[in-house]
Amino acid sequence: MAIMLIMDILEVKNLNLGFETESGFKQALYDVSFSLKKSKIHALVGESGCGKTISAMSILKLLPKTAKITSGEIYLSEQNTNILTLNNSALEKIRGSKIALIPQDPMTSLNPLYTIENQLLEVIEKHQNIKGKEAVQKAIEALELVQIPSAKSRLKSYPHEFSGGMKQRAIIAMALACNAQIIIADEPTTALDVTIQAQIMNILDNIKKEIGTSILLITHDLALVEDCADEISVMYSGRIVESASTKEFFKNSNNPYSKALLKSLPSNKSKKGEKLAIIEGQPPSIQQEIKGCKFHPRCEFAMPICSQTVPELKEIAPKHLSACYLND
Ligand code: SF4
Repeated sequence: MAIMLIMDILEVKNLNLGFETESGFKQALYDVSFSLKKSKIHALVGESGCGKTISAMSILKLLPKTAKITSGEIYLSEQNTNILTLNNSALEKIRGSKIALIPQDPMTSLNPLYTIENQLLEVIEKHQNIKGKEAVQKAIEALELVQIPSAKSRLKSYPHEFSGGMKQRAIIAMALACNAQIIIADEPTTALDVTIQAQIMNILDNIKKEIGTSILLITHDLALVEDCADEISVMYSGRIVESASTKEFFKNSNNPYSKALLKSLPSNKSKKGEKLAIIEGQPPSIQQEIKGCKFHPRCEFAMPICSQTVPELKEIAPKHLSACYLND
């Protein structure tokens, strides 16, 4: 068997996925490929329904029953096995211990009936094989890492005694307590106000720098990722349409969809009361069959070829990919 050389901590290659619907099988992801480097944050960005969450959930194989991965490969750096081929018990070992999930709604991960201490100790005992005082000390350290004040006394709290931001920090602490090398953060700040959003992003950035955790960040909010993400992949209607380092992306964004997303961001130069640009129209649902570039009904630069064939994702500058006929 050929040995696969995995350079990054996570590599997703040519992932194709669809859903069984009443009107037949509908494709939702098309050849999605991206990678995550050690101690880096890779942001998957796009409007809701573009496929970013389902791409991330495919890594954990936490998919709705109607979803089916039709082809593709997912590799972790330590395993030369396509994890999509693993059975449930092998995948169960990876979930939590190697890859942890921070969901949008922290209450889906915190059990309201148990204290934060009970829940943290459970994962520490399971994943770090430590018990007693040493485990309690690890739990305190995990809460301190996510900047929960008076960590020792807050261990005794129940989730309902925490604010939304504190709950989200407790979930991040649980991921750290598992010793997870990869965190998938799915819109981790959507339910929080702007100040708390910045604090959570700051905590994720610190974890990346101090512990070396790699983070796949799913978000619709480009403004949120400018300061913390190292790489960005923009998705539209199930495809990656642009991918680059964050610095390169914000300096030289290329794809008309990415540019439209960027135009809709507030900037330092925006005047008070000035209206932000909006992208006219809606992203298509998976039921809608659109030929060619799926952005063409909304694209101000669309040409006849755009509605005929899908543009290829091509390198337009070193490590900067974009799918658009304007580059040809
Ligand atoms: Fe717009 Fe055509 Fe480029 Fe698609 S391929 S983004 S429709 S110009």
